[in-house]
Amino acid sequence: MTCKYIFVTGGVLSGLGKGVTTASIGLLLKCMGLKVTAVKIDPYVNVDAGTMNPYMHGEVYVTDDGGEVDLDIGHYERFLNTDLRKRNNITTGKIYLRVIEKERKGIYLGQTVQIIPHITDEIKDEIKSIGKEQGADVVLVEIGGTVGDIEGLPFLEAARQLRLEEGMKNTLFIHVVLIPKLGTTGELKTKPAQHSVQELRRIGIQPDILVARSSERLSEEAKKKLALFTNVQYNAIFSNYDVEYVYEVPTVLNHQGLPKIIKEMLDLNTVSDRCDLTQWVEFTNNLKTYDREVTVALIGKYTSLRDSYLSIIEALRHSSAKLRVKVNLRWVEATDVERKAINPKEIMEGVSGGIVLPGFGGRGVEGKLLMIKELRERELPTLGICFGLQLMVVEFARNVLRLQEAHTTEVNPTTPHPVVDLLTSQEGVIYKGGTMRLGSKPIKIIRGTKAFEIYGSEVIYERHRHRYQINPEYVNLYEREGFIVSGYSDEGFPEIMEYRGSKFYLGIQAHPEFKSRPLSPAPLFTEFLKNCMYSSK
Ligand code: GLN
Repeated sequence: MTCKYIFVTGGVLSGLGKGVTTASIGLLLKCMGLKVTAVKIDPYVNVDAGTMNPYMHGEVYVTDDGGEVDLDIGHYERFLNTDLRKRNNITTGKIYLRVIEKERKGIYLGQTVQIIPHITDEIKDEIKSIGKEQGADVVLVEIGGTVGDIEGLPFLEAARQLRLEEGMKNTLFIHVVLIPKLGTTGELKTKPAQHSVQELRRIGIQPDILVARSSERLSEEAKKKLALFTNVQYNAIFSNYDVEYVYEVPTVLNHQGLPKIIKEMLDLNTVSDRCDLTQWVEFTNNLKTYDREVTVALIGKYTSLRDSYLSIIEALRHSSAKLRVKVNLRWVEATDVERKAINPKEIMEGVSGGIVLPGFGGRGVEGKLLMIKELRERELPTLGICFGLQLMVVEFARNVLRLQEAHTTEVNPTTPHPVVDLLTSQEGVIYKGGTMRLGSKPIKIIRGTKAFEIYGSEVIYERHRHRYQINPEYVNLYEREGFIVSGYSDEGFPEIMEYRGSKFYLGIQAHPEFKSRPLSPAPLFTEFLKNCMYSSK
């Protein structure tokens, strides 16, 4: 069948949950029997998300092929249960870089290189080429930002052109808008949404479908008003009201008949407009009906923006549904521990286990080390991820092996005991973008270890994003004290370590959270949570 393109745009303001809406539409299309791929467009000038602070932009998600991408790619992978590629995240930086390189090579020789047509052609070519490479029936393209942003214009213009070229039956525009509720009257106001659709129309795009985000279900009256003023069919307006878990959004849209409308509008005669979401609904029900509760401490330094650790929170959710346990998160801001605004002992009251979160740089590290010591000494289930493992090793070196001032050279380049050191492959690397050890890499698991028990395999693949490694020269010293290596990289440095002195005290250099899916949770998270359940008995 001819490839179809669905564009999802956003209006009124950002942070509406457009990524979740797009991922939910993707899941519905997949259930209809279509082969779907999803693309996120980020109109910023960075080439990728790798050089951005998680404070600003949320977590940097990592794909199998080593892309440092926007966190929405994570939503798509989790909802669609698929592995996407680096190129599924398009940015202004990537497109311009490519066009400028072509210009320098003389590919446009003689021409004036312009936004239209050169930049817009590059955007269209990339979207089509992704669809072709990934054998998609439908390419779902989410255009980040809000309609009206200057930086988003070339992408919207490319989408407009694509409709002209591919035809009405092969393209669809879905606009996600906010319908705010006025505190004083409790009324749902459609005016900002009307303006946002006008803005879209001004640049030549009439949306076919509206998804209205609001705190409560849209009234018939509000829907009628929206239809009249936005020129969108009444039955193509969907109410995406607030739900407890993002995983409920597909069901909300399914109940209102979104698959049927998409089928009609895109002339998808051969597919079903009924989506069987049974397993998915079972999963969301399990999230809500639990037998037990545990409290998990999350130790990091970007704790004020929860999106910084999004995939870890989602991985915990997936496992919690499987185990039917509710997970309460206790955020521990390491910089506050460091400046003594938080007492490590007090904050651990009632906590069943802790996750030492990934991170970079020295800020908050001493606070994290205090928290790790607390977890180790209390023999609480502990899971260290990437920087988390590295700091578990530093803590062990200092407090058990008595190697004073042991450190990672990332924080103290002149430490007498560089227990965590730069990867050999990183020596001489100066450029910052896309240069870490990135993406899916094999880990060799040692038989007879907890890691082997959990993964049940001698070789596993997890995604990575780091510049530093556990220094293998110290391994004998740790192992003598029961802190053993249970997984090695191909290059021969420790990837997984576990401490025999505790039931579950394990750190991993990789990021297992990126491969956790609602219906197939990451086994390390499940095992960690299981241990938290025992420890809280
Ligand atoms: N800063 C550490 C490194 O580069 C850990 C990175 C991380 O936690 N993702 O190795």
